[in-house]
Amino acid sequence: MYDLLIKNALLVNASDTQKGCIAIKDGKIMAIGGDASDFSAIRELDAQGKHMLPGCVDVHVHFRDPGLTYKEDFSTGSMAAAAGGVTTVFDMPNVQPPTLNVENFLIKKQIAEEKSYVNYGIYSYLVNNLDQIDALIEAGVCGFKWDLSTFDWELPEGYYLPDNHEAADIFRKIATYDYVVSIHAEDMELVKNFTSKLRSEGRDERDFLAHVEARPDIVELSALYRAFVLSELSGCRIHITHLTSKRGLALIKEHQRRGIRVTSDVGPAWFTFNAGDYEKFGGGIRVIPAIRYKEDSDALWRSLADGGIEAVATDHAPHSNEEKFNRTWWDTLPGTIGVQTSLPILLDRVNKGEMTLERVVACMAEAPARIFGLYPRKGGIRVGMDADLVLVDMDKEWVVTHGEMYSKTKYTPYDGMWLRGKPVMTIVMGDIIMENGNIVGKPGAARMVNPKKEW
Ligand SMILES: [Zn+2]
Repeated sequence: MYDLLIKNALLVNASDTQKGCIAIKDGKIMAIGGDASDFSAIRELDAQGKHMLPGCVDVHVHFRDPGLTYKEDFSTGSMAAAAGGVTTVFDMPNVQPPTLNVENFLIKKQIAEEKSYVNYGIYSYLVNNLDQIDALIEAGVCGFKWDLSTFDWELPEGYYLPDNHEAADIFRKIATYDYVVSIHAEDMELVKNFTSKLRSEGRDERDFLAHVEARPDIVELSALYRAFVLSELSGCRIHITHLTSKRGLALIKEHQRRGIRVTSDVGPAWFTFNAGDYEKFGGGIRVIPAIRYKEDSDALWRSLADGGIEAVATDHAPHSNEEKFNRTWWDTLPGTIGVQTSLPILLDRVNKGEMTLERVVACMAEAPARIFGLYPRKGGIRVGMDADLVLVDMDKEWVVTHGEMYSKTKYTPYDGMWLRGKPVMTIVMGDIIMENGNIVGKPGAARMVNPKKEW
């Protein structure tokens, strides 16, 4: 007797789509079959021919918990994820206290355990914490974030971003575990230089086009070169998160061909919007690294669609309205929400013929699971894998609104956007968490995940 039987679905993996049913017990996919009458279960659901995808894995979110919960917390953030068909999130370390040692990791872990509706990985910062790496991996971090946009004054006393001499040893240590370093690639010395130049020239403080001019693609290239050097020195795998430029993309491809172990992701904001949108949205699309020109956003999209960029990650980064809309192009806080809208945006692109549904599964589930060591427990619909699933209605037409967002921060630049295709049910470890846009489950079924696969 199974816990749950879902029949009459189109099961989509990265490699193929097949018609069938899924039998779930104890949070796992126990059987996949063509004929539902072969199985009996406590609860049966008829998918009515809709597509069932593996739950999405978003390896870049900021749920702001602990310390910044006026923007978001693990409850609201993970509800937004569940509503968007995201069943696993990796949360970033820039909370208060920041995740950079075991003590602070355990504080966040307890919060996520209590509040999260979806599975979660918890990153540690990569700072001058070489002496903590073994213990952090033992404690259960999912990976390390080398955030080159961080200023030392944002870190607790005694912590700083390491120079190459110190970073090389930390990368070597992480490489011994085959964990991955996720990198925010911006050369902040250049950003400072460009920013002060524009300001001294008297650039209008409300002209958000200056934001991209202060952070041109060359600041990404500079940081990428530095990352490739450290990866080559250490053998450590690196993952460039929120890639933003056509030239950065070409540089990554070139270094992949040379044997550097680098992968990348892109967020929907960076291929949906471009510099022409700053006039309309202002601080609403001020993110870092910057949303660039149309030739960049088009190149990112084409590469994501054809498999060159491996993954989608949102950089879901909520802020209050005051932090987003009453400030200048240089001090508006960077980030916008996105974990609830990323899968629907891609489903709409599928309906427009710009991407296949199998490719959506590849870039939103299988590839992030593989890169971050969760595969083969996550990332597909196969016997023995975790029952993290999302049922999507490819025909559902809807308009994104601020009001529908589960995030504490309601503002979304996608408000008013007409989309076709929407998640209608989300299942986390065998439990139905979201149905028709409503959160129906409870926190508790979700698990902490990491490459050790001990959940
Ligand atoms: Zn981020």
